Parts: sequence; C-alpha cells; structure tokens
Amino acid sequence: MAGLDLAGRVQTVLGTIDGEALGLTSCHEHVLWDFLGYYKEPQDESDRRRAHEPVTMENLHWIRTRPGANMDNLFQTDEALAIKELTPFKEAGGGTVVEMSNRGMARDPSGLARVSEATGLNIVMGSGYYVADSHPADMDDKTGQDIADEIVTDLLEGVGDTGIRAGIIGEIGCSVPFTENERKVMRGCAIAQRRTGAPLNVHPSVDDDLVLENIRELRESGADLTRVAISHIDGFNFRTDTVRRILEAGCYLEYDGFGQAVYHIPYAGKVLNRLSDMGRLEAIAEWIAEGYRDRILMAQDYCFKCVLA
Ligand SMILES: [Zn+2]
Repeated sequence: MAGLDLAGRVQTVLGTIDGEALGLTSCHEHVLWDFLGYYKEPQDESDRRRAHEPVTMENLHWIRTRPGANMDNLFQTDEALAIKELTPFKEAGGGTVVEMSNRGMARDPSGLARVSEATGLNIVMGSGYYVADSHPADMDDKTGQDIADEIVTDLLEGVGDTGIRAGIIGEIGCSVPFTENERKVMRGCAIAQRRTGAPLNVHPSVDDDLVLENIRELRESGADLTRVAISHIDGFNFRTDTVRRILEAGCYLEYDGFGQAVYHIPYAGKVLNRLSDMGRLEAIAEWIAEGYRDRILMAQDYCFKCVLA
C-alpha cells in the first residue's frame, strides 16, 4: 500500500487539490450527521413529548437550551437541506468545509460527494471514531493497530467500496472520564498519522487536566502534534493557562462555535458556558497578539438542527 504523497495537497471527496485551492476554509463542520449518541430521554412528561417532536419555530428556544433532549435536533442526513445551508457560505466566498462526521455519525461519502458537486465547495471527509457513546458494539475487541488500519484504508483506498477517500483523522472523541477505548483510538490515530502524514482533529475531554492527558496520549503514541487541532476551545471552558499549554504542546486551537447562538449546554455533567462570537474574536485577538496567528482555526461546527438557518 503506497503512502500518502500529499505534501502541499489536500484530499477532498472529489479528489486531491492543491493547498492553494482550498480558499476560505471552515475547519470543523457536520454536513450530514447523527449525534443520537448524546440523546437523553427527559424525565418530565411534557418534556418527553417535546423530545420526539420535529424541530419547529414553536419549540426552537426549548431545544436551544437543551440540544441533547430532542431527537430530530441530533440527526440530519437530508442532502438538500445540507446544500441549502452551505450555499450562503459559498456565496460569501467560502471554498472548503472539513466534515467531521466519522464512523458512527452517519458518515456518507457518496452523499458528501453529491453535496460538494452541487455547492461547488470542497469537502474534506473525516475518519476514525467519535466519543465512546458512539463507538460500535465490538470496540472492546479492536486493537489500536486495527483502528490504525481502518483509518489508513479510509485515507489511502477509500471508505467501503466507494473509492472516496477521507482527508483527515477526526473528529476523534474524548469523554470525561477519558475511557480506555478512547485512549486506544488515540493510539490508533497516532499510528495512522505516522503512516500517512494526515492531519488529526480531537474533540477533547471537557476537563482542564484531561485535555492535557488527551494530548499526552497522542504524544506518547508518536503523533505529530504540530498537525493536531484541539476543537471546541470556545465552548469547553478551559482555563487560559490550559489553553496556553495546548499551544505550547504544538497543537492548533480551534474556535469552532461561530454563529451558533447556543450559550449554555448541559454536557458531561456540567453546564457549558460558551463564548459569544465577540468573545471568540477577543480571545483570538489575544492569541494573535502573542504571536499565535498561524495556530488558530475557525469554524461553526453546526451539529444541531436548532442552529440551522
Ligand atoms: Zn464536531
């Protein structure tokens, strides 16, 4: 199996392109997605009724304040809707979106290729596994090497029999606690990254100590941290000194909640107090002032129907 010979190039669902051709890039999106692993059946009877309604103007506020409590909100596989949502990005000068839905999240190579053709946007597809709640039933039986082999196949040969190749490892999910299987996946990702040189995106554990543990697991497994992005810096309430240590480890910071207007999310036993867009810009401006301009990525990470136009 030949290695990736992609220096300066990017692998999209329609083939490889020059890095120069990426244009304005949103580095963490979900074009088609299944986040039902996060669904929690509400206890209250009237809430339970709302949990099974489609997302509408009438229940929009209720869902925005508890995005994991409505099933329709967590599932989007309609290509026409994806095209409608992405078209304004293209019209505003957008060039590329990086699709982070991977195994267990309704990853759909052929669907993404159709959306790319219809919108004219480059789409880079993900690989690997999200958080433990979305892992397949046989995850306990897989080794890190098995996971690495799966990812390398996605990157070099394509997903299933589609011939459509992933272009990034991610988003790789880490929970609180950081589970054994998630550690194993990270080790597999590091092996796959060494074999292919592919970039790697991490959905970190929502905890100041554990996010650094996520990075340590990658480093000790031989990952190239200069090609690793840590997602959700604007939503996971890390302390400034923790964010600085992520930068000092060599990773990219990803501010990926732009435009969502969802400020408080119950998640991992906490209530996340997410930055506003102005807060995101202020935080980014401070890192730029410290010389980190080239280490910042931005995106919208639309993974709930309640944030769609
Ligand atoms: Zn995401």
